[in-house]
Order: sequence, then C-alpha cells, then structure tokens
Amino acid sequence: MNVSQVAPLSELLGSAAVVSIGLRTRFRGLLEREALLFKGPEGWAEWSPFTEYSDEEAAVWLRAAIEFAYQPTPALQRNQIGINATLPAVGPDQVEKVLGRFGRFATVKIKVVEHGEDLSADLARINRVVELFPDAKIRLDANGGYTVLEALNLSKTLLENKVPLEYLEQPVASIGELAQLRVELKRNGLEVQIAADESIRKATDPMAVVHASAADILVLKAAPLGGIRQALEIAAEAALPAVVSSALETSVGLSMGAHLAAALPELTFDCGLGTASLLIGDVSSSPLKVIDGQLEVRRVEVDQSRLDTFRAEDHRADWWLERLERCYKLL
Ligand SMILES: [Mg+2]
Repeated sequence: MNVSQVAPLSELLGSAAVVSIGLRTRFRGLLEREALLFKGPEGWAEWSPFTEYSDEEAAVWLRAAIEFAYQPTPALQRNQIGINATLPAVGPDQVEKVLGRFGRFATVKIKVVEHGEDLSADLARINRVVELFPDAKIRLDANGGYTVLEALNLSKTLLENKVPLEYLEQPVASIGELAQLRVELKRNGLEVQIAADESIRKATDPMAVVHASAADILVLKAAPLGGIRQALEIAAEAALPAVVSSALETSVGLSMGAHLAAALPELTFDCGLGTASLLIGDVSSSPLKVIDGQLEVRRVEVDQSRLDTFRAEDHRADWWLERLERCYKLL
C-alpha cells in the first residue's frame, strides 16, 4: 500500500476527529481513553496508540488504520466472534460488579500484577472469579510482570486449586524468559499454556517468539502489527493458534479487530474484543456490543453527536493532529 497515493494526509486531516472517553475503572493506569478517528472509502477507522508511545510505534498503528479505512478487508470466514470478559486488576469485592456488565461469557481474562502487588492479591481476585463463575475458562494477563519463578509458583498454585486455567498471557517480559518458563513448566509436569502478546506486537521481529519456541498461542492485535493483512501473515507463518485482542478501543477500533478475527482461517479461542463496556460511552449510536458472548463482525458508523459529546479539549486535539502529521511522514 502506497500510503501517500492511497490516503493523502489532507484527506485524513479533513475527516479527523479526536475524542476522549472516560473509563469506568482504571485500566493500564488510565482514567480517560483518547482516540483519533478518520473516514476513508471503506468506512471509519480508529488511530489510538497510547499517548506515551513513540512516533515510530504510533506510525505502525497509523498504517493499520489507513489500511482499514482505505482498503477492502480480506475474505471473512465467520460473521460472529466469541468474546471473553475482561477483569481489570480490581479488588475481590469489585469482581461481581465489573464482570456483571459483560452479560454471558465463557472465558474471563483477568489482569494480574498491575500494581506490583504480591501474588496474594492476584490469587484473591482469581479465586473470587472462580467462586462466582465456576464454569468460566480463566486466562491471566500479566503484561510481563512476573519473574519466571513467580509464574511457575502461580501455575502450581492454580493447578492445585483446580482453577480452570486456559493460558497465561505474557506472564514474563522477555522472549528468553517465556522460553525458559515453558521449559520449567514441562520439567515440573505442569500443563499450562503460554500466550505471547507484547513479545509479538512490541518486538522488531514478531516471529522471534515462534523461532524461540517461547509460546503455545499468539495474541494478535491488528493495530500494533500494522494492520489486518500483516497480522494474518504472521498467524500463517507461525502456524500457532491465535487470539485476537484489542487495545481498549472504541467500537471503530474493535471492528478492525473483529474483521481480523473473522478473517483467520481457524479460530478456537474467545477473543479480547469486548472492551467497549469498559468505556463510559462510544462514538456510534449502534456500537459493537457483545451479546451472549458473541460480537457481530461489521463496520461501525460514527455519529456526529457522539463526536461532539466526547470531543477532546482543543489542546489535546492539537496534540493528536500534530502527532498524525509526524507519524504520517514516517510511513
Ligand atoms: Mg495482553
């Protein structure tokens, strides 16, 4: 895709709208989520790299958004995607309220080690989920926060407690540690699957995880991987099962993830695209909502009235538009 021919900067700036939407619960340390939306011939796209990301990283997200707005999506294999509920690192007393917003679900992804707490806080949260939803599959997302030893000890405890653990997502930070953890788990006879997230989307080579035998499952996010096509290529080359996830996006960003999930040849895991309920509102009057654990695969129309409601303050909008111009030049 030749970006300057396909999507001139003036066109992106012409339809660009910057929103700031509050979060119901602190997530990734954030209370507000900012996003820039623009429209191309295929529909709306969202560009929302987290504000601390470098221009180089944000430019990869921009390529993905431009592809989604300007190029037809690859052929879809399904029109509904199974979705997991997501539990931020809340105290056990808040679990029922937060998960109650998701309606029915078969899988819960629980955030762990978010505040650098000890393992007991994580275990209390996990145990509360199992108590309330004994049939749900549990996946834990540590964002690389454990040491190999901590992840190993946690795995032992979870298996002893018969927690229905689906997988550990990025339990440790580096690819080397992931590989080491997999070896240690096997050596200890612990059957725990490892999913790689940051080690794929933040790595210079997304295939390094695969070459190091560091994961059983890939977490694919369309935006940080540079778009749906690129993510599909990685999945094909890795020949590992994939889970599609989002990065706390509005319905527009989620629809790009839903299209990626729908385009994968095989999809056996629930996907992490149900995060719209963590935001206090959305940019569409028909947002992508999870119903009975399923998400519809479709594009999302944006409403002007919603853009007005959530319009970012002028100095934030200016910041995003300047960022857009800088990142565009990097493409
Ligand atoms: Mg993750």
